[in-house]
Amino acid sequence: MLENKEQSRTSLSELGEFGLIDHLTGQIRLKHKSSVKGVGDDCAVLKPGEHVLVTTDLLIEGVHFDLSYTPLKHLGYKAVVVNLSDVYAMNGQPKQITVSIAVSNRFTLEALEELYAGIHLACEAYGVDLVGGDTTSSTKGLLISITAIGEAKKEDIVYRSGAKKNDLVVVTGDLGAAYLGLQVLEREKQVFMVNPNSQPDLENYNYLVERQLKPEARKDVIDLLKKLEVKPTSMMDISDGLSSELLHICKQSGVGCVIYENKIPLDPQVIATCEEFNLVGTTVAMNGGEDYELLFTIDQKDFDKIKGNPNLTVIGYITEKAEGSTLITRSEQSIPIEAQGWNALKNG
Ligand code: ADP
Ligand code: MG
Repeated sequence: MLENKEQSRTSLSELGEFGLIDHLTGQIRLKHKSSVKGVGDDCAVLKPGEHVLVTTDLLIEGVHFDLSYTPLKHLGYKAVVVNLSDVYAMNGQPKQITVSIAVSNRFTLEALEELYAGIHLACEAYGVDLVGGDTTSSTKGLLISITAIGEAKKEDIVYRSGAKKNDLVVVTGDLGAAYLGLQVLEREKQVFMVNPNSQPDLENYNYLVERQLKPEARKDVIDLLKKLEVKPTSMMDISDGLSSELLHICKQSGVGCVIYENKIPLDPQVIATCEEFNLVGTTVAMNGGEDYELLFTIDQKDFDKIKGNPNLTVIGYITEKAEGSTLITRSEQSIPIEAQGWNALKNG
């Protein structure tokens, strides 16, 4: 029994850096013609055919993730997906990623295999090539930095700055679930710390927990919009909560907006769990985070093309800048939209 346990805990120093990189990246088969050379030389070599989109995220243990309830495979998957989401938010297609990690000696080879299993799974699911990275040690904890490289035709790229008066404001999917998933996991962690024999009871929260631990990027929506021949006038992904993202679009486009509370899409599990946690669904959707849905604006003439699609909800419209950014509540009160953002909510 003990022996078995030892066998499945290979220390990283046994492989050395190059052995480790080989082990984690050896089985990669490049999918894209534009990936000329991947892992194994001083640089990856790419030959893109279009405009190139580049985005990076840095994730730090204890700040951005908590390994006491985040399986490493999920972490790897999520770390890739959040980067790809940024490429889709420009109306582009991600093609390659690089992955850099810093690990302390607390991590075993088996732990990194799990992390990379998630990374490879996301690469398969979204059709991107892992073409390089860096591996180094840290004194404490795990750091992951992923860079995604995408492509888009110049005329297809959608910026945050293109919204104009009378455009419709659209969101994909539903909002607030990932934030509530985090609250549920944090609560279970507290229970576990008091009673280590307790078993987490997550049955009623499966959608919320999945949205927190295994988010997906909306490639499907980008492909759908292309098929429908709808080019958004502005777009971004919702990583910090709807309020802050709306304000980004309004600021960068030099416009205002009117959003209707009763249009904001919430999953039934979000509504039920909000009651239990004594939270307001709208607040969670507006100020939660990590939904990785898309927020975009379209010209009114495109409304018929998206009408009735269950993935797309019109939540309001764009106004002149002077009118500010307003939420119309269910009781028809107008309240100004403020950026609270997800960190503010988390800490306070
Ligand atoms: P250098 O010393 O030139 O930075 P490295 O030894 O760090 O080269 O990397 C060797 C190869 O392995 C390079 O192609 C690099 O992109 C790749 N690589 C290193 N670390 C990782 C990693 N964590 N994930 C994926 N590829 C990696
Ligand atoms: Mg290196």
